Amino acid sequence: MTDSVYDDLDVPEVINATGTKTRIGGSLIRPEAADAMRRAAEGFARISDLQARASELIQDVTGAQAGYVASGASACMTLAAAACIAGDDPAAMASLPDTEGLADEIVVPRTHRTGYDHAYRVAGAELVDVGANDAYLGTGAENTERWEIEAAIGADTAAVAYVQKEYTTPPLEAVVEVAHDNDVPVIVDAAAELPPVENLERFIDLGVDLVAFSGGKAIRGPQTTGILAGREDLIRSVAAQQLDMHAAADAWVPPAELVDVDALGGVPRQGIGRGMKVGKGELVGLIRALELFVEEDHEARTAEWRDRAERIAEELADEPALSTSLAAASATDVAPTVTVSVDEAEAPVTTAELVRGLREENPRIFVGADALDQAQFTINPMCLPDEQVAYVLDRIRDRV
Ligand SMILES: *Cc1c(COP(=O)(O)O)cnc(C)c1O
Repeated sequence: MTDSVYDDLDVPEVINATGTKTRIGGSLIRPEAADAMRRAAEGFARISDLQARASELIQDVTGAQAGYVASGASACMTLAAAACIAGDDPAAMASLPDTEGLADEIVVPRTHRTGYDHAYRVAGAELVDVGANDAYLGTGAENTERWEIEAAIGADTAAVAYVQKEYTTPPLEAVVEVAHDNDVPVIVDAAAELPPVENLERFIDLGVDLVAFSGGKAIRGPQTTGILAGREDLIRSVAAQQLDMHAAADAWVPPAELVDVDALGGVPRQGIGRGMKVGKGELVGLIRALELFVEEDHEARTAEWRDRAERIAEELADEPALSTSLAAASATDVAPTVTVSVDEAEAPVTTAELVRGLREENPRIFVGADALDQAQFTINPMCLPDEQVAYVLDRIRDRV
């Protein structure tokens, strides 16, 4: 429908009414960040210098001692695990994901297990999950007790992992306390927890040792970026395991903030993170996007999303086969979301057929499909520009 590069390639464009989803390209990169990436392509910079510059910005906006950029929050989680397991030992770095003889266990409350924690195992970590699912029994019992985490921590523990979601328990404060009482670092997966912008600082304020955010979700940086913020010694370990390490020792002068040459006692080999590299373009684009995300008028942006969502909800509610409701930004969505219920007796298609049909159009239209079994789909206004709203509504109306 536009003169898009995807059309040039004969690849169907996607109209994104479902929010920041990796499989359809994440979010819309900020134009200023895209422009910075194009300018980055015109010349060279040492990647480690760009990482050091990114680290400065990450320190400023999170309050952490240091920061790093890798190819996604998921890559940052792998690197976090690698840093907690290998520390500053080049021999350990070289052996990962083989962890024989190393403390390689990551303790995680069982209800925090997600498909994303595969990222920790990539580094060689063994996940030790503790607790139960008792909160849902309605007896007042907790999912994870402090003593369960404490009992699981031992000589083989490398870290405690935590997934930040509105519904996760125990409170992060309590997990940090029990981990630190036992001299073990805490890694937090906060990939999708921005906005609110305050979350950039929140985890570091709570004493978390490493926290990962996606650069390609609401920050609207390059889709292949993630931010890791945290302790300087751990970020140094990350750098040593991620940067291109084919260097001549005598001519090796990496930025001192990121690589402590003396502590390493020599040039490490290519590390576990080498395949998670970001280029000069991603680094420059992420830096620009993060600067802009922090400066953004977050209230105005939220109001814009809400207005758009309200308009969509009102218009679709006029369809006899549809009813709508508006949910505030919730545990899983950073933007207000329109839930559309389909009266399957009234509509000529089931909800699944409707959603699938929209995806098969050209351009493809993606709406949220998390509640098809309840005859519902969702519309998230975050990645759906105003100019595309009428088109999406027309296409939906045409099918019901
Ligand atoms: C999106 C997401 C990730 C992965 O982030 P990428 O930046 O795409 O690698 C990890 N964990 C959670 C909870 C997420 O929502």
